[in-house]
Amino acid sequence: MNYNIALLKGDGIGPEIVDGAVAVLEKIGERFGHTFNFTPYLIGGCAIDATGEPLPEETVKGCLASDSVLLGAVGGPKWDTLPGNQRPEKALLGIRSALGLYTNLRPAKLYSALNAECPLRPDIVEKGIDLVMVRELTGGIYFGERGRRDGKYGPEAYDTECYSVMEIERIARVACETAQKRGKKVISIDKANVLESSRLWREVVHKVAENYPDVEVTDMLVDNAAMQLVKNPSQFDVVVTSNMFGDILSDEASQITGSIGLLPSASLGDTKCGMYEPIHGSAPDIAGQNKANPIATILSAAMMLRYSFDLEEEAKAIEKAVDEVLKSGYRTGDILGASKETPLTCTEMTEKILEKI
Ligand code: NAD
Repeated sequence: MNYNIALLKGDGIGPEIVDGAVAVLEKIGERFGHTFNFTPYLIGGCAIDATGEPLPEETVKGCLASDSVLLGAVGGPKWDTLPGNQRPEKALLGIRSALGLYTNLRPAKLYSALNAECPLRPDIVEKGIDLVMVRELTGGIYFGERGRRDGKYGPEAYDTECYSVMEIERIARVACETAQKRGKKVISIDKANVLESSRLWREVVHKVAENYPDVEVTDMLVDNAAMQLVKNPSQFDVVVTSNMFGDILSDEASQITGSIGLLPSASLGDTKCGMYEPIHGSAPDIAGQNKANPIATILSAAMMLRYSFDLEEEAKAIEKAVDEVLKSGYRTGDILGASKETPLTCTEMTEKILEKI
């Protein structure tokens, strides 16, 4: 098959890590008989420098015309003093909205070879961590009515959490379908003991779950979930939650699995065209030094194969190669731990993964 991929390398380490993922996709293409066509577009700080805008029209058009989008990262100190709506990060909201991406999927998996990197107790780590966080991305308090006004005690500010049945239904379907491809367990996280929006969330999630009898769906309050993630993370398979709860819990989940240089993510909507990116930023402190860990971006490419192109075997081939490379003891600087070995460069780590594929 032939697939057209828009490449948004962005800033900082973005170009280095995206080059690694492209090399891996090309290798997968060779092995499994697919052709991946890559077209680069500008986004973030480099787009501001070249065109004056963080998200040029040509980039949006190019992404809309492609089968899928691979993003590195945007931002850096050079553009930090620009006003909010002109900053590189603004491009991320713009491109998600242009592509209609309302779901953020973030797997958090602890590779057994990296157990020592996990900040939790060994008896907890032993049971393993392998979960996917399904976060609603375009609704809730981040997009609700907000403002400032004069209140009972003087000036005050408010933000509103509002979810429609439609928004909850579609994210609940994504969670159930994700669980069908994994451990068939969904934990829906809310604050239904206090919030009306959470009570609707709970009601709708269970209504949707009736269509997935093979998936077990249970609820957990968000305060308990924050505790359970560090106390007993192995109980989670798929977690579904609102925009704000997901924002907070997905960062917690990423930290218990070691380095952010390892974790991929996918943003999905109603079409097959998704956007795939590492969860980390542009790492300006190591940019241009060939020190970045390319694994999060390489695993994001694997998610693209699975969710946009339905190429499960090819996705697994990448994940297996990463697993084997880590088991063989190869490390970039961010996952070196206490070892005195010389870390691999970004290109050397990519080479090791290519060899295993
Ligand atoms: P960051 O994730 O870029 O870096 C945090 C730390 O982790 C740094 O020490 C960095 O060197 C290290 N790190 C990150 N990715 C790594 C990798 N692949 N390999 C090895 N080490 C890695 O977060 P930050 O420093 O808070 O932000 C830097 C810039 O990135 C800011 O401009 C921020 O706005 C932007 N940012 C962009 C995105 C995005 O594009 N999606 C996300 C977060 C932050």
